[in-house]
Amino acid sequence: MVRFFVRYDYIKTNTTLEKASHLDAATLLYSNGPIGIVVSALASSLMVFGISGETVNQPKLIWWFFISVILLLRIVDWAEWKTRSSKSASSGQLGVQRFAIGSISTAIAWSIYVVFFYNQLNDTELYVAIVVMSSFAGGSSSLLAASRFTAISYSMILLVPIALMGLFSDEEHRQLLGILGVAFVLIMFISRIKASRFTSDAIHQKNLNALLIAELENEKNHIALTNKELKVTSSELNQTNINLEDEVKRRTEEIYQLSNRDSLTQLVNRKAFTKSLESLIELSIVKDSPLALLFIDLNGFKKINDTMGHKVGDSVLVQVTQRISAFSENNRAGRWNGDEFLVALPYSDQDTAMSIAKAIATSITQPIYVHGNELHLSASIGIAMAPAHSLSATELIQLADLTMCEQKQSDNKLPRVFSNDLKEKIAASQMILEGLQHAIERKQFYLCYQPIQTAKDNVSFAFEALLRWNFNDKFIGPDVFIPLAEKSGLIKEIGAWVLNRACMDAKHWQFNQQAAVSVNVSVIQLMDDGFIRLLDNCLRSSGLAPERLHLEVTESTFVENKVKIRQQLEQIQARKIDISIDDFGTGYSSLSQLQSLPVNYVKIDKSFVDNIEGKGEAIIRATLFIARELNCQTIAEGVETKEQAIALSAMGVDYLQGYYFAKPMKNEDLVIWQNPITSIFS
Ligand code: C2E
Ligand code: MG
Ligand code: MG
Repeated sequence: MVRFFVRYDYIKTNTTLEKASHLDAATLLYSNGPIGIVVSALASSLMVFGISGETVNQPKLIWWFFISVILLLRIVDWAEWKTRSSKSASSGQLGVQRFAIGSISTAIAWSIYVVFFYNQLNDTELYVAIVVMSSFAGGSSSLLAASRFTAISYSMILLVPIALMGLFSDEEHRQLLGILGVAFVLIMFISRIKASRFTSDAIHQKNLNALLIAELENEKNHIALTNKELKVTSSELNQTNINLEDEVKRRTEEIYQLSNRDSLTQLVNRKAFTKSLESLIELSIVKDSPLALLFIDLNGFKKINDTMGHKVGDSVLVQVTQRISAFSENNRAGRWNGDEFLVALPYSDQDTAMSIAKAIATSITQPIYVHGNELHLSASIGIAMAPAHSLSATELIQLADLTMCEQKQSDNKLPRVFSNDLKEKIAASQMILEGLQHAIERKQFYLCYQPIQTAKDNVSFAFEALLRWNFNDKFIGPDVFIPLAEKSGLIKEIGAWVLNRACMDAKHWQFNQQAAVSVNVSVIQLMDDGFIRLLDNCLRSSGLAPERLHLEVTESTFVENKVKIRQQLEQIQARKIDISIDDFGTGYSSLSQLQSLPVNYVKIDKSFVDNIEGKGEAIIRATLFIARELNCQTIAEGVETKEQAIALSAMGVDYLQGYYFAKPMKNEDLVIWQNPITSIFS
C-alpha cells in the first residue's frame, strides 16, 4: 500500500513536471515568435522584391504569397496564444505543437524557395539566400531552443536543401558552397541538440524547483494546518483534562461524603469523627489547651421509634442533629450510633463544656414536632477531657460513653464529667468482665434454686434457677454481672451453660418429679437464631420433659423487635415450654402488646409486693385483672412475710415466691430441703 502511494506520487509529480515544462516551452517559443515572423516577412519580401531585378516573376510572387499566408496564420496563432486568458498546464504541449507547425511550415516555404529557384538565382541572390537561411538557422538556436524537435527540424529543413543543391550543382564554386553548407548543417545539428538540451534542462530545473517550492509550500500549509488541528485537539484535551479533574474532585468528594458522613443526619460518622478527634487532641497538646468531648444519648428515642415507626424516628434524629449542631462548630459533631451523638469542643475547659452540655440537654428537651405529633425527649450527657483524662481518641470516647451511662442510671439528670470514682468503678467492671470470660472454664458458676409455691396449698410448683458466681472467693451478684455479660455478648455462652445445668439438675430431682425448673433468659439470648436449637439440645441431652421447663423473660423484652420475639415465643410454646413475664409492671409493655403475645405466667415484681400496704395493692389487683384477661396465671415475687403471703393469696395470686418460703439454695441443699411453712394461713 505504501509502495503504491510512493509510486503514485512519483508519477503524479513527473506528469505535473512534464506539463509545466511544456507550458514554459510554449510560452518561450511564442514570446520569441514575432521576431522570427517579422524577420521572415522582411527577408521574403527582400528576396522577392528587393534583389530580383525590376520585374518580379510570377512563381516568386506566388511563393511570396504562399509564405506570407503562412506568416499571417502564424501571427493569428501567436495572437490567439497571447490573448488566451487561461493557459492551463495541459495546453502547453498543444502550444508547442502548434508553434512547431508554424515554424516548420515557414522553413519548408524557404526550402521550396531554394529548391525551385536555385538554378534561376544569380550569385548575389544565392549569397543573400545563403546568408538569410544561415541567419535563420543560427537565430533559431536561441529562438527555438525551447523545443528541440522544432529547432532541429527548422534548421535542417532550411539548410539541408540549399547545401544539397550546392553540392550537386555543376558550378564549382557552388559545389564548394554545398560542402560548406553540409559542414554547417552538421555543426548546426550538434549545436541545436546542445542548445535545446540546455534550454529544456533549464526549464525542467526551473519547474522542478517551482514544483519543489510548491510542494514545500504545500507541506508548510499542511504542517500549519496540522499544527492548527493539534492546537485545537490540545485545547480540547486540556478542557477534557479540566473536566476530568473536576469529575475526579466531585467523585472524591462524593466518596468522602459516603465514607465519612452519616447518610441520615449528614454528620460525620464514627470513623471520621474518631480520626478528626485524634487531630484535635494532638492540637490541644501543641496549643496546651484543653479539649472536651461530649457523649450524648437520647432518652425515650427507642420508645418513639418502636411505637411511631422509623420514619418518625428519622425525623426526630434530624431535628435533634440540628439542635446539637447549633452548639458545635462545623464537623465537630458526629453520630456515633442510633441515638448517640458526639461533640468535640476544642479550647474548652470543664466549666465551658458543662455549660454547653447543659444548653444542649435543655435544647433537646424542647418539644419536637413530627407530622403533627408533639414528642418529648431528654438526653444523658457524659463529658471526658483531653489531655486530663486521656490522650487517645478511642479511650476518650469510651470514657465519655461510660460517664454518660453512669449519668443515665443516676437520679441526677445533669450532664456528668468523668471522675476518679468513675474510673475505679470502670476499672472494677473491666476486671469483672475479664473474670466473666473465664468463669465457665474455671467452674466458678453454680445455680441456686428458689421454690415457687402454690398459694392455695403451699406445694412446690416450680424452682427458679438463679445464677451465682464465685469470683476468686468473692461473691458477685447477678445484678452486677448479668448486665455486663449482656453488654459484652458473653450472656449467650453463660445462658447456654445455665440452661443445660438447670435441665440436668431438674431431671435428677428425685424429691419432686413434677416441679418445673424456671430459667431466666435474657432478650439477647432469645433473639439469637440458635436459641431454639439450644433448647432442643438441652431437653434432648438432659431427658427433661419440656413441660417441666419454664422460661422467664423480663417485661422490657417485649419492647425489642416484636415480630422476631413473637416468632421465637411461638416456637418455644410449640414445644410445650411455658413462658413467664418477669418483673411485670416495671417495664414499658402496654396491655395491647401483651395481648398478642403467647405468655403463660405473669410475675408480679417484688417492689409491688413490698408496697402491698400502700399503692402496691392497687397495682397488684390491676395486674391480676390483666392476667385473667390474658389467660395467664400469676406469681408474686419477693414474698417475705406471712402477711404478704396471706394478702396475695386472698387477692387471688396463684403462686408465691420469696424468702418467706425459702432463699435460693444450692442444688445439694434443695434436694434435702424441707418446707418450713406447713400452711400459709396457720
Ligand atoms: P429475678 O429473675 O427477678 O430473680 C428474683 C431475684 O429476687 C433473685 O435475685 C432472688 O434471689 C431475689 N429474691 C427472691 N425472693 C426474694 C425475697 O423475698 N427478698 C429479696 N430481697 N429478694 C428475693 P438474684 O438471684 O440476685 O437475681 C437477680 C436477677 O438477676 C434476677 O431477677 C434475674 O433477672 C437475674 N438473673 C439471675 N440469674 C440469671 C440467669 O441465670 N440468667 C439471666 N439472664 N438472668 C439471671
Ligand atoms: Mg426471674
Ligand atoms: Mg423478677
